[in-house]
Amino acid sequence: MQPLTTMNRRNFVQLASLTAGAAMLPGVAHAAASSAATLPPLPYAFDALEPHFDTLTMQIHHGKHHAAYVAGLNAALAKAPDLAGRPPDDLLGSLPGLADEALRTSLRNHGGGHWNHSFFWQTLAPAAQSGKPSGKLGTALDAAFGSMTGFRQAFGEAAAKRFGSGWAWLIIHDGKLRITSTPNQDNPLMKGLVPDADLGTPLLGLDVWEHAYYLHYQNRRPDYIAAWWNLVNWPAVSKRFEASSGGR
Ligand code: MN
Repeated sequence: MQPLTTMNRRNFVQLASLTAGAAMLPGVAHAAASSAATLPPLPYAFDALEPHFDTLTMQIHHGKHHAAYVAGLNAALAKAPDLAGRPPDDLLGSLPGLADEALRTSLRNHGGGHWNHSFFWQTLAPAAQSGKPSGKLGTALDAAFGSMTGFRQAFGEAAAKRFGSGWAWLIIHDGKLRITSTPNQDNPLMKGLVPDADLGTPLLGLDVWEHAYYLHYQNRRPDYIAAWWNLVNWPAVSKRFEASSGGR
């Protein structure tokens, strides 16, 4: 698998003609004429996460919700040509300096939505390939949260308690692992928009918007969270940790 930063950078700046139709067909939206964001194909089949995440939810979540963030981001970037083509982390970090509030909000919501979902797909894996944290990450999780059980409890609580729509995150900041959560499509990279206490490099993220689980789990967010643990792509998360300051 490609490193996430490489993938995101490519997807953000890839030359593409983004039409609604093309955006819904993974692998089709590429190679055209402007520096538009494109919908990255899922790195597995829509039904690969069954029975924990059902096929229809995955199709709608990726092909409609994520696609809408990509389209919204491109509509916003059309009004800010100097920002188009910037690496995504850069773009999110530069938002506080934007004077146009409507544009800033649009980039925050849609740019955040695109970043968060691209990240989410990469940190999921079919249950058989979920694996476990590497030795280094396992040791760091034990040190930060007492045990793997302690980590799962604290993370699950952050995800369950996020009121309304948002995300739960495992982040690393100054070499320390921390759990946090953000509302809407905000994320821990949004310096100047998100409280400093919640900032850091995301290692793992969980989407707790109802659109992520309502079809299958209805209002039972805790059941969705419990199912999600079966699908965490621990090799990918471990790689991110080991590439970060805390893993060295
Ligand atoms: Mn979502």
